[in-house]
Amino acid sequence: MQTNPAISVTAPAKVNLFLHVTGRRDDGYHLLESLFVFTSKGDKITVEPAETLAFSLTGTFAGALGGAADDNLVIKAAKAMATAAGIQANALIRLEKNLPIASGIGGGSADAAATLLALNTFWRLNWPVARLESIALGLGADVPACLYPKPLFVRGVGEKLTPVEVPWLAGERGILLVNPGVALSTPAVFKAYKASQNAFDATLPEPGLVWQDPAALGSLSRNSLEAPAISLCPEIGHVLAALEGLEGIRLARMSGSGATCFGLFDTADAASKAAENLAARQ
Ligand code: C5P
Repeated sequence: MQTNPAISVTAPAKVNLFLHVTGRRDDGYHLLESLFVFTSKGDKITVEPAETLAFSLTGTFAGALGGAADDNLVIKAAKAMATAAGIQANALIRLEKNLPIASGIGGGSADAAATLLALNTFWRLNWPVARLESIALGLGADVPACLYPKPLFVRGVGEKLTPVEVPWLAGERGILLVNPGVALSTPAVFKAYKASQNAFDATLPEPGLVWQDPAALGSLSRNSLEAPAISLCPEIGHVLAALEGLEGIRLARMSGSGATCFGLFDTADAASKAAENLAARQ
């Protein structure tokens, strides 16, 4: 098989600026309405020529991932892509793991999406990205959105994607991500949500109003998985309280199913100063 030379793709962290749960499907999956945005930092996927399918793991959080390579979403993505293309999955895939795992910022999903994008070029398939969406959905509900790392309104369980303009994000804003260092399982959080028997969120009549600015986001939207996540991991409540006390913070909220929380700031500089203050205190 002809391949291209080595290719690197960034797998940026995703942040759910809000996450509403609007229903539950017969198969147990929850229907969501969520605003996904992507940060400039993330993991990195590199694919290189190899005789077989091989995997290498480096980076700050490589140790936390560990386990068998077969279990890794990156390898599952490569196998799914090769099956869809009817080819041998020959490639060395390097994952630089810079994001904490099981943390609500889509690390594994972003890695899987970046693998699909990299292999699409590396194996000279050059499919339109839309053709990768169904392969992505088979790997996880958040993976299709991670194929398009730009602001998206996401519905269904994660398969209905609408690109959106978020005027407030047009300037260079700052987002501070704080993870309490506790891995939180997504199924466990959805299970706790179900057990709480909370009423589902209403679907948004005019979602555009919600993403105008942090004040609108704060008053018109929420992360409905926050309370169940805090019941499993009380540290999230402490992180949110610490974020809310920071100078210049416009909104503090949990991302995804947690445990990572984020703070929005008007400038990247304000977010950096807040990070320094927080690190000095805790
Ligand atoms: O698709 P993913 O592997 O990310 O989902 C992990 C688990 O989280 C699912 O098995 C399901 O229990 C729960 N989930 C859900 N509704 C979603 C996404 C995930 O209930 N929209």
